[in-house]
Amino acid sequence: MRTGIIGGGLMGVVLAYFLAKSGEQVTILEQGLHLGGLNDELQFEDGLVVPRYQHALLPSDAVLRRLCVELGLSHELIFQSARAGFVNQNTIHPMSNIFDFLSFSVLGLRDRFRLGRMILQTRGKSNWHDLDALSAKEWLVRVGGQEAFERIWRPLLEAKFDGVYDNVSATYIWAWLNRMSSVRQAPQLSGTIGYLKRGHYSLIKALANAFLEMGGEIQYDARVREIELQDGRLGRVRTHAGTLEFDALVAAVATPIFAHLIPAADPAYLTRLEKSTYLGLICPVMVVDRPLSKFWTLNLTDPSYPFATIIQTPHPEKPDHFIVHLPRYTAPDNDWMGVGDADIREAWITHLKKIFPDFKDDQIIHFAVSRSRYAEPIHNVNMLQNSLDVQTPYAGLYLANTAQVYPQLPTSEAAVAHAREVADRIRLARPIGILT
Ligand SMILES: Cc1cc2nc3c(=O)[nH]c(=O)nc-3n(C[C@H](O)[C@H](O)[C@H](O)COP(=O)(O)OP(=O)(O)OC[C@H]3O[C@@H](n4cnc5c(N)ncnc54)[C@H](O)[C@@H]3O)c2cc1C
Repeated sequence: MRTGIIGGGLMGVVLAYFLAKSGEQVTILEQGLHLGGLNDELQFEDGLVVPRYQHALLPSDAVLRRLCVELGLSHELIFQSARAGFVNQNTIHPMSNIFDFLSFSVLGLRDRFRLGRMILQTRGKSNWHDLDALSAKEWLVRVGGQEAFERIWRPLLEAKFDGVYDNVSATYIWAWLNRMSSVRQAPQLSGTIGYLKRGHYSLIKALANAFLEMGGEIQYDARVREIELQDGRLGRVRTHAGTLEFDALVAAVATPIFAHLIPAADPAYLTRLEKSTYLGLICPVMVVDRPLSKFWTLNLTDPSYPFATIIQTPHPEKPDHFIVHLPRYTAPDNDWMGVGDADIREAWITHLKKIFPDFKDDQIIHFAVSRSRYAEPIHNVNMLQNSLDVQTPYAGLYLANTAQVYPQLPTSEAAVAHAREVADRIRLARPIGILT
């Protein structure tokens, strides 16, 4: 049985790896010249390589950690204590532990207590279904109070969702708070954050190598233009170079991309797909010759800043190089998406200097801007009603993406676990008689 996978991001490559491991004949069709998608890396003119977007692992990311061990990447996996903080009115407030929280002057004592109680209640809440139809704003005001919402949550939601968060479900906050507190499951690593020394792209490379060794095929520069549908089932796959045929096909791409690939699908199904919305992303990354601060990550609470987070990591090979990612998520109609790199650099650096007044342009060794149209699926209210199954209405055609991991956050951990489940489902769906 021949299975095709559209998309060589983490989801597609993990899926290909698990299917090939169980003896399937698999081909990955990737539109780019290399794999990785959001886990791709960037190479500067002098050969220096950095992750396009910063990816971290939490000690509780058990599935991802197991996969790294299986692929011989244990020595690349680094856990180190990570300082986190907020930037409020250009002042940094540490927020790494309970003592930082208790001295957080942005909120009054009563609101700090209420916020702390809310976080503890969320940690203990295993039934999230009642939050599905509730907006994040409604729930946060109800349980944390108006003051904490205005001072903490509103700016964070504004920044994360580019101001468009009215329809974001309370489950998003529930999942986020639970993920942040899940580090307690690995007490020996509590307070630490993990990352792959050479970035998540090394995981993609290790998966791809193992996949190729098992007889898998990868076609690069193979942009799929259309998936034909015939008599209620999968037909041919059209790329710009020709047509291909598979017994099963998995679209491991964002839902809006998938919708474009099946123009002949039932309009009711296409309407369902359209309900899945995404945030875009603009993310400058710079390499600097000294650290900006002692913080791994700083979240900004001022929505007038063009970026929402500052993530700083040491370069794995150059002790005097530090990598700084300055991401900004974008709503579909955000104007920044059409702005050129030079103007983005100027706006971002101007604002960075407000937080770090000593920062000078000549500290920048490299600067590059990346953009992604579909970076993160949004948890809208009533996701339960609008969830999309892996099996599409068309026999032999499957959809696998991080919009389906709801209510979990669309993390690498969730992507790997989902890809593994999808591989099992595809194997079980094979017609009897062609079991290998
Ligand atoms: C800024 C950022 C930071 C993140 N940080 C973390 C983190 O710290 N920890 C964590 O756990 N998770 C993190 N994530 C989430 C993680 O990156 C995702 O869960 C994961 O990368 C999703 O992979 P994917 O394969 O589903 O999608 P993608 O990476 O988007 O892959 C889709 C692939 O499909 C290809 N493609 C698209 N259309 C076509 C077509 N028509 N034909 C052929 N190929 C096509 C694309 O080129 C791409 O390679 C982060 C995400 C972002 C955006």
